[in-house]
Amino acid sequence: GKGIVSSSLAALLKARGYSVTIQKLDPYINIDPGTLNPYEHGECYVTEDGAETDLDLGHYERFLNIPTSQVNNITTGRVYKDVIEKERRGDFLGQTVQVIPHITDEIQRHIKLLGDSGNYDFVIIEIGGTVGDIESFPFIEAIRQLNWELGKKSVTIHLTLVPYLKTTGELKTKPTQHSVKTLLEQGVQPDIIVCRTEHDLNDALRRKIALFCNVQPSCVIQSIDVESIYEVPLLMQKEGLDREVLRLIQIPTTQEANLDYWKDFLHKLKFPKSNVTIGLVGKYVELHDAYKSIGESFIHGGVANECKVKLEYIHSEGINESNVDNKLKHLHAILVAPGFGERGIDGKIISIRYARENKIPFLGICLGMQCAVVEFARNVLTYKDAHSTEVNPKTAFPVIDLMDDKDNIPKTGGTMRLGAYPCELKEDSLAYKIYGQKHISERHRHRYEFNNKYLYEFESNGMIATGINKNQDLIEIIEIPSHPFFIGVQFHPEYKSTVAKHHPLFEHFVKAAMAYKAKNK
Ligand code: GLN
Repeated sequence: GKGIVSSSLAALLKARGYSVTIQKLDPYINIDPGTLNPYEHGECYVTEDGAETDLDLGHYERFLNIPTSQVNNITTGRVYKDVIEKERRGDFLGQTVQVIPHITDEIQRHIKLLGDSGNYDFVIIEIGGTVGDIESFPFIEAIRQLNWELGKKSVTIHLTLVPYLKTTGELKTKPTQHSVKTLLEQGVQPDIIVCRTEHDLNDALRRKIALFCNVQPSCVIQSIDVESIYEVPLLMQKEGLDREVLRLIQIPTTQEANLDYWKDFLHKLKFPKSNVTIGLVGKYVELHDAYKSIGESFIHGGVANECKVKLEYIHSEGINESNVDNKLKHLHAILVAPGFGERGIDGKIISIRYARENKIPFLGICLGMQCAVVEFARNVLTYKDAHSTEVNPKTAFPVIDLMDDKDNIPKTGGTMRLGAYPCELKEDSLAYKIYGQKHISERHRHRYEFNNKYLYEFESNGMIATGINKNQDLIEIIEIPSHPFFIGVQFHPEYKSTVAKHHPLFEHFVKAAMAYKAKNK
């Protein structure tokens, strides 16, 4: 809930003409979410500068249409690492290094990096976790100190849950009173309370919360459950969240922010003219957050076509030669997802063969593109044993391998290629038609690459490389021109799709699904 409320406030302030950014403080000890299992924290979101971050940064970018960076996501692990490195260098001159002031100072230093950059009128700081958690204590303490220092220039917003008890038909304010009390014990008085609720909070309830929590009634903001996260900025505007923030920091306001653009987006989202069913074949399908940005990109790409995309999450481990037809035949397009490791690879390869042979629109992202290369090598080039060396290091045909940047020789080890890299498109390709330009830049998160040694054989047999990183001679996009829509990308287009600027690949993929549906109905 906090990520969407922060993003909505940011979108409202931005619509009023202010420059805004958001920083997420995560109380866990991992240095960054790069090593976290997607089952626990959902997708790892990658920024332009190659930071592996919390998925909330994806919401920030989608709502704000402004890129975030390394600085926008800080964890306890990162803060401690920096402090300990300073201690080892002797920066503390023999002092005892302690949570207060050293850790809290370091947290404030990270927070101020964005404010001091001079690029922003507003920096919204979102603290992960819940008030009262042992882990979040130093962050709350840092905020207490900062509030003191900034005075009227800072506003504290507290998000609480107002549960609804079905049996008595009542909304309960007790949890809100308790969490505010806990916050007060830590020395922080919230200025605004945002209440998550299933039902409308009436005036009496708002007054009650205001009275118990020392805030003005106009600062009790309800955030009622809605179908789409994209409705939240409009609801927050109706509740006056941005107006109250500006009033508290004494910036005079006249009219409301103009949200016509959002309203138009929402209208198209709510009243689509058609619909398609697209399969997402992956291995983390039980938790949709693991593919958050892909799901959101389909919402944007669907709206661009005024078409509702019903995304069906399909577990690749459950797909085999004998059931593939049953599992995929109703789909109008198939996407094979990014991922790591061996689990579920066979089902992905079988799904790609099905899409290729039945001329169903196909989009492969990162591992999905690599699997498309392996499938083509096995079933068209007849290299039965072909594989990515990530899965089978002993394969006789390492069509996907660790590549040295310069001379295309496989290297023994590698770290991940992370963040934005340039790519040049071939002019007569599907990719060029989609992007409408020759030079693009997309974000990466992978170790393995197409093995250029095999390029000639692929191209002479119908799979061609249409996007290339010329600096490093790396293949970024493959296509099958004899297929109506078959494209695999080594990068992650889903990280760059926003409400204001949907990604062309998703727009065109949805269009291809619509065309497939029209033809095969
Ligand atoms: N596991 C593959 C690699 O490291 C693909 C990664 C991904 O899909 N993000 O190259």
